Amino acid sequence: MKNITVIGSGTMGNGIAHTFAQFGFNVSLVDISQPALDKALATISKNIDRQVAKGTVTETDKTNTLNNIKTFTALSEGAKNADLVVEAATENIEVKLNIFRELDKICPVNTILASNTSSISITKIGSVTKRADKVIGMHFMNPVPVMKLVEVIRGYSTSNEVNDLIFAISKKLNKVPVEVNDYPGFVANRILMPMINEAIYSLYEGVAGVEEIDTVMKLGMAHPMGPLQLADFIGLDVCLSILKVLHDGFGNPKYAPCPLLVNMVTAGHLGVKSGSGFYKYAAGSKELIVADRFRK
Ligand code: NAD
Repeated sequence: MKNITVIGSGTMGNGIAHTFAQFGFNVSLVDISQPALDKALATISKNIDRQVAKGTVTETDKTNTLNNIKTFTALSEGAKNADLVVEAATENIEVKLNIFRELDKICPVNTILASNTSSISITKIGSVTKRADKVIGMHFMNPVPVMKLVEVIRGYSTSNEVNDLIFAISKKLNKVPVEVNDYPGFVANRILMPMINEAIYSLYEGVAGVEEIDTVMKLGMAHPMGPLQLADFIGLDVCLSILKVLHDGFGNPKYAPCPLLVNMVTAGHLGVKSGSGFYKYAAGSKELIVADRFRK
């Protein structure tokens, strides 16, 4: 596999494109938005500068990585020669099903179609194509160039051969692939999201404040970041939508999203991306300031 098409150039898509390009693959990065593509290239360049400053890559590596990435706004152009497609478009089932229907028509018959979805069923995505055996989940973690895990999700019809190929290519990216089956939330979010939800419930019920909850989990459980800070980083809207997938998928009330989370999303307090969630985020500052709503 040499030609990789990455669909969606947002937070995850730019990291996935960066990582494949850094390891010598030809990357076609596709987005419906030209400004999103321009921003992705600028972000990748800035992130490689950080790697150069740390001494993990050279200026020549930077040039080679950037030369390995071409951008497209037309899916038909960007995906027609792909050996592997990694879809990282907006987490919306209709958006993804439409992309996979199109890919099935555009791509050569042997192209593997992977999705980076956090929560949408791979079996469902595979069912809208004529190649469900070649549809698989390739769930990278944020930030992609740094995080080692790739959660590899086998849909009901995914073949052993395709699973093995995705394992092999993940290892070429210096990642650690882990095989999981296709059930709501897979493994990462099935475990992470109830923990985040429980942290929000602890705040909502007044058990402790924002900093106290995060400090307990950081210092007591050796988590690098507390669950409320992590929720802000992931995006509270994303957390809510994944909890809904777990709740709907299992029909178990233990996954019901905390009403405080629902209110915060409705009010537009989405975490880092909106400038405020459990903490406030001043531009260019890493200092954590508890949001006014939660100050004692
Ligand atoms: P994002 O909103 O940052 O980026 C999504 C991009 O997709 C946007 O640039 C948008 O213009 C583009 N897009 C929308 N429709 C498209 C289409 N039809 N064709 C091409 N491009 C299209 O989203 P993100 O956070 O990068 O998430 C992308 C995927 O990765 C989602 O499935 C999400 O669940 C998953 N994911 C996110 C994280 C995370 O921490 N953000 C972690 C793991 C997985």
